[in-house]
Amino acid sequence: MTNYREVYGEILADHHECPRNWGKLTDATEEEKGYNPLCGDQVTLFLKMTGNKLEKCTFEGEGCSICMASASIMTERVQGHTSEEVAKMVEGFREKMQGAEVVAGMPSETDEDDIVALYGVKRFPVRIKCALLPWTTLKKGLEHHEHP
Ligand code: ZN
Repeated sequence: MTNYREVYGEILADHHECPRNWGKLTDATEEEKGYNPLCGDQVTLFLKMTGNKLEKCTFEGEGCSICMASASIMTERVQGHTSEEVAKMVEGFREKMQGAEVVAGMPSETDEDDIVALYGVKRFPVRIKCALLPWTTLKKGLEHHEHP
């Protein structure tokens, strides 16, 4: 049987070392900062909204490997979706991290999906905020887009 702990560790390490969608977005329509005082994680998201659609999402920041990997995995997942869809993903991810077994629309623990690597973080309660930070920051950014 595969050692899932090792596999998940590798996926997170890969996203940490080679973050996807890293860097400022020159044509961003929203910029949103998030901070997790428990760990010192800082993340800045750059969103390009076209109407209701999140065309692009990039990030910069400084934080622990879990936070940076989570941001990288998140940006890959949310691009091209409407703000309603993204809000559902953020909520779904939060529910998974808070221990929900099955969440509609979210991959399950046995699926082959990078986001599943993040689910493993819930075994370390103090790190859940690290994984959630990019997602809650994205939610704030979308809210600011709708209610400037
Ligand atoms: Zn952290």
